[in-house]
Amino acid sequence: MKQEFIFIGPPGSGKGTQTKLLSKDYNLPHIDTGSLLREEVSSGSENGKLANSFMEKGQLVPIELVSQIIKNRLLKDDCKNGFILDGYPRSLEQAEALDNILKEVNSDTNINLQAFYFNVPEERLIERLVNRRSCPRCGTIYNLKTMNLKNKEICENCGSKLVQRDDDTEEIARKRFDTYFAQTEPLIEFYKKRGILTELDASLSIEEIYKNLTGAIKNYVNS
Ligand code: AMP
Repeated sequence: MKQEFIFIGPPGSGKGTQTKLLSKDYNLPHIDTGSLLREEVSSGSENGKLANSFMEKGQLVPIELVSQIIKNRLLKDDCKNGFILDGYPRSLEQAEALDNILKEVNSDTNINLQAFYFNVPEERLIERLVNRRSCPRCGTIYNLKTMNLKNKEICENCGSKLVQRDDDTEEIARKRFDTYFAQTEPLIEFYKKRGILTELDASLSIEEIYKNLTGAIKNYVNS
């Protein structure tokens, strides 16, 4: 069965961390629009420049650009058994665009499509975002406050210098939340009405959230 998972949640709710774990255990590609857009920005392309003008304000990048990037990615061979969408869709308009993209990329009739909502109180999130650092080489994500790093600047996994994302400042983080509540939160009702949404308490530990996530996938598949 082709497994298609959609992860919805505010910035800093831990979607990325959970996707990395699930991606490894289920052998599914992790498709994260934020990272795909940051790659486009680093390439210096015209699309990258356009995307950056929205990203630096904490706003959504225009749907045409994001839909194109997603469609090209979902057509790649490694998505034939499924994928995990982290950070897409982020608006009702994008959810409708995704329905159309899935019709094009899914030739398989046996599909398990599930959406997960990572729910965490907003104040916890701001604290997580401003303390978030990541490794540009191996992708490990750290929280300077909750993780006891020997050296707060160095990745414990591969020794590279950790970086902070440009949009993980308090000012831009607050704007990203405004965008989330106005445009992304309505997706919770959208997928709930379809009967494919599971809500997860994302204020728990990484291990507990992962246990609940994989438990919900198994229950759904077996029901
Ligand atoms: P993220 O890494 O998921 O926090 O995304 C960083 C930024 O990339 C967001 O604040 C948006 O500006 C942009 N972005 C990521 N995903 C999308 C999307 N699905 N639609 C539009 N813009 C997006």
